[in-house]
Amino acid sequence: MIVDSHVHIGNSEWGNFSPEYLLEIIQDVDCAICSNLNGIDSAGCFKDEYECNLEMLEISKKYPKLKPLTVCQPNITENNKVVRTLLETYPDFIGLKIHPEYMRLPADSEKYDKYLELAREFNKPCLYHSGHIKSRFSSPALIYKKAQEFPEVPVILGHLSTGPNDCHKQAIEILLDSIENNRANLYVDISWIDFMFERINESMEDTLMLIEALKTTSCGDNTYRILWGSDAPVGAFNHTQESYSHNLAIFKQRILEKFKDENLLNNLLYNNAQRLYGF
Ligand SMILES: [Zn+2]
Repeated sequence: MIVDSHVHIGNSEWGNFSPEYLLEIIQDVDCAICSNLNGIDSAGCFKDEYECNLEMLEISKKYPKLKPLTVCQPNITENNKVVRTLLETYPDFIGLKIHPEYMRLPADSEKYDKYLELAREFNKPCLYHSGHIKSRFSSPALIYKKAQEFPEVPVILGHLSTGPNDCHKQAIEILLDSIENNRANLYVDISWIDFMFERINESMEDTLMLIEALKTTSCGDNTYRILWGSDAPVGAFNHTQESYSHNLAIFKQRILEKFKDENLLNNLLYNNAQRLYGF
């Protein structure tokens, strides 16, 4: 069983991704948590909250392997009415997707509050794009600041953070701070952590560093907070089924070599995501 907790359909600067193209790439996966780039990074095909999420919903009905997230656009809306209606009408939406970098809206802005209130009310995790540690829109520190105002809401740092090793280290410090001081309910997916430009860094050192750090916190093993995710088809390393399979195989191999623990691997590959999203 494999759950990819971070995939996309739709148009973006990376290409135009049909659901069929995505499904071709992720043949190894049993289930994938998907949001629509037409509401995020639309490359000229922008759709509003209602349109882009209904499109995602229809696709997930056609292809039940894809579980939909509802994309939030607090930079445009003045309230959460559309997303509230979507969550009330379609329980199929398993969580919220928030991309502060593309919205150019700092992650600690109060414009997010109404959406996080919805996440709390409907008990839905929020998948964030967690950007460079220096980003004034999507740095993990800004996301953490907002997550502390909504400690009941699971907030996923998608990609941990972008950028090199020192960015990852700082983002891990944030995760540890949230765990050790019980300040927020942070999760993390491993997409992009060890992927630069066109290919995987096969040592996967930063991913292993993250797992090691969360395994040995002063509050015990917190690796249940870590999810396998690819961001497919975004990123040249996610453009073919062969490449996806290769990356997944390397991930499995590195985890087993380092930790020699099948349970840990299975948790990272699907149990953690299923527990978090409740399916
Ligand atoms: Zn993404």
